[in-house]
Amino acid sequence: HAKSDGRNTLKFYRPELTARAVRRMQLGAGLHTAVQRHEFELFYQPVVSLAGDLVSSAEALVRWHHPSLGLLMPSQFIALAEESGMAVPLGDWVLQEACRQAAGWDACGVAVNVSPRQFKRGNLLDTVRRALAAAALPPQCLCIEITEDLLLENSEENLETIAALREMGVTIAIDDFGVGYSSLSYIRRFRPEKMKIDCSLIRNVATDSGDAELVRAAISMAHALKVSVVAEGVETEAQRLFLDGEGCDMVQGFLYAKAQPASVFEAWRADYGSSRHPAR
Ligand code: C2E
Ligand code: MG
Ligand code: MG
Ligand code: MG
Repeated sequence: HAKSDGRNTLKFYRPELTARAVRRMQLGAGLHTAVQRHEFELFYQPVVSLAGDLVSSAEALVRWHHPSLGLLMPSQFIALAEESGMAVPLGDWVLQEACRQAAGWDACGVAVNVSPRQFKRGNLLDTVRRALAAAALPPQCLCIEITEDLLLENSEENLETIAALREMGVTIAIDDFGVGYSSLSYIRRFRPEKMKIDCSLIRNVATDSGDAELVRAAISMAHALKVSVVAEGVETEAQRLFLDGEGCDMVQGFLYAKAQPASVFEAWRADYGSSRHPAR
């Protein structure tokens, strides 16, 4: 009987599935040592304030220099890190590294993505406090980006953590607004300092009147609640013009720069500042 089970199993053998499983195992094993081996790097993407045309902050976006697979994007390993218990150690490293690098930036904050797992299992408050202290970075320079999954959980613990971060002076942004079950009610309840409108809503904002209406409504709703608005994925001048006209506060996207290593971002920012504001 066992033999025939074995044959049945073989019948459903799918090489591509196995290749994927092997790759996941390979990545999973490598994840556990990647922090110590210094295989992660933070790239930084500028967030530009439309009033005054200034680089007000940069978002830290993690990359993994995998020893055999090359440069990996977060979509290739963040979910795996979450499942394999690496979200907390990786997240701790990201916070420390981002604060350390941003401490050298004059008048420019840093935004860090924090996963729901870090909220629940990690000692996030302690990590943030230690990262800020070690870098001597004022808390006002750090923005923590959370997604609405976290708010959907609606747990007391998450709410307390958010409140404590605020108390510390750290700012909070709701990331990826417009993709989930959003959210107007969450924005109203949590009153984050910032709301980031997802790329998918920005993409057709200059060509689709429905999307334009939606973004216009989101901006005015956020402003009514004294929440400032960042548009993500701004790639064209037409999108920027629309957003500026609607009073959007900040923009982020390939129109300005993609995420780049710290030194490249720093050089880009110096150049942007001097070309736009030669008098300063
Ligand atoms: P996110 O936080 O919404 O970050 C914005 C993503 O949009 C980044 O992708 C960025 O490179 C991309 N992007 C920016 N401008 C444009 C544009 O003009 N056009 C297009 N098509 N895309 C643009 P990335 O770096 O691949 O990161 C993907 C996601 O991975 C992030 O989405 C964030 O949710 C997550 N992530 C990144 N770094 C970390 C991290 O350190 N910790 C955690 N927990 N998650 C992270
Ligand atoms: Mg983000
Ligand atoms: Mg986003
Ligand atoms: Mg995202």
